[in-house]
Amino acid sequence: MGSGQVTERLDWNGKKVTVAGLGVSGIPAARVLHGLGALVTVVNDGDDERSRAQAADLEAEGITVRLGDGATLPPGTELIVTTPGWRPDKPLFAAAAEAGVEIWGDVELAWRLRGPDAAPWLAVTGTNGKTTTVRMLTSILEAAGLRTAAVGNIGVSLLDAVLGEEKYDVLAVELSSYQLHWAPSVRVHSAAVLNLAPDHLDWHGSMEAYAADKGRIYEGNKIACVYNVADQVTEDLVREADVEEGCRAIGFTLGTPGPSQLGVVEGILVDRAFVENRQKNAQELAEVSDVQPPAPHNIANALAAAALARAFGVDAKAVRDGLKAFRPDPHRIELVEEVQGVRYVDDSKATNTHAAEASLAAYDPIVWIAGGLAKGATFDELVQKSAKRLRGAVLIGADRELIREALARHAPEVPVVDLDRTDTGAMSEAVREAARLARPGDTVLLAPACASMDMFTNYNKRGEAFADAVRALAATGDA
Ligand code: ADP
Repeated sequence: MGSGQVTERLDWNGKKVTVAGLGVSGIPAARVLHGLGALVTVVNDGDDERSRAQAADLEAEGITVRLGDGATLPPGTELIVTTPGWRPDKPLFAAAAEAGVEIWGDVELAWRLRGPDAAPWLAVTGTNGKTTTVRMLTSILEAAGLRTAAVGNIGVSLLDAVLGEEKYDVLAVELSSYQLHWAPSVRVHSAAVLNLAPDHLDWHGSMEAYAADKGRIYEGNKIACVYNVADQVTEDLVREADVEEGCRAIGFTLGTPGPSQLGVVEGILVDRAFVENRQKNAQELAEVSDVQPPAPHNIANALAAAALARAFGVDAKAVRDGLKAFRPDPHRIELVEEVQGVRYVDDSKATNTHAAEASLAAYDPIVWIAGGLAKGATFDELVQKSAKRLRGAVLIGADRELIREALARHAPEVPVVDLDRTDTGAMSEAVREAARLARPGDTVLLAPACASMDMFTNYNKRGEAFADAVRALAATGDA
């Protein structure tokens, strides 16, 4: 650890810190702060068996835990470190505001605890594509021979990354809108906002508040603010941000790039931003076919990752090598198998309409498997935009009626199978029905546009159920 953290240790001694929420970020935060000498109280809404066991472990280490009351501010609290998922309108935060107590999330805590020679952060946010882009970026940075890790919502935890033994040259950081909301002083090397579509609006209160939290990622950027040319809001956020002198706005586009942009020309990813004389010159980075899968939105992710890497000074060859080496995480437009000339693609991670729209744009014709928990979404725009590519649709889950109605309104000629069952066999039947509708050359695409929890534990399980059914179909001709 650097000498700066010794100073931090002294600062924490005897400081009364309330950690809001037992959980993946709360428990390590409590331990780290306790280790630094703070007087830590963890407060938690739940008081179930699991939290009691966790509380017992922490109390044995000397940390106070209060279960069943996450609303009242413990007396004398000087700082709150909150689980990012806790909504800002919770009474605990109102009490903190009244008492003039600062509130940090897990990202802010990691930022404040990092040492003086800490690795710079290249940060990514957006409604969709964050994990993929961060993984692509990590792959590029590794190809450039840099010591790096994917951190934030994925991979290594931020606290481990900034406090652990491992030395990094640079970190690729995924940040959610919740985390950004609670990260007032984070100032990164360069950052990208990939796209913005309505999501989590119940948490943020409005689209404006959601956008403002995403836009926080640009505040104080040093080298580059990367935005999506096709998504005006992301460019507006750059314009509104207060950045360091000399920090540049860099666009990425699936079209021909202008100066200070990265884009695509005749199947080649090119850079017109980080080159000498960008009015005239462009640097070839990679071919579209180097990116897996080469779906349009994934090329956009690759361009954003390349822009951040180039802002960090990575050469063109490493961008190409890194993109070539990249493999998507499971359940993100994953080709499961081809059966009798039909491709079966698992995009179970498409849990909102914006994500599903992107994957539906990548194939033609499609038999679409969709449905689940709509989370307040409407499906008219999605169906309108995708209708001409649909061979058919198979609908599953609690809110399938909403999708069926949108199909009836905007694509009445598309055959629809409505599966009125939510048991474990439902996905097998969905795949069987999809196989019946598909013709050779088609793609059967699981892109539910909905959350999975009505039928499955999570989107992973939903994707696995789909893949199992497809494999059964391949093996026996029956899902
Ligand atoms: P996140 O971490 O933001 O949830 P992921 O990289 O895990 O994003 O991708 C989630 C889903 O979003 C993918 O399965 C795909 O359907 C969709 N997606 C990925 N990238 C984009 C993009 N740039 N624009 C729109 N949708 C995307």
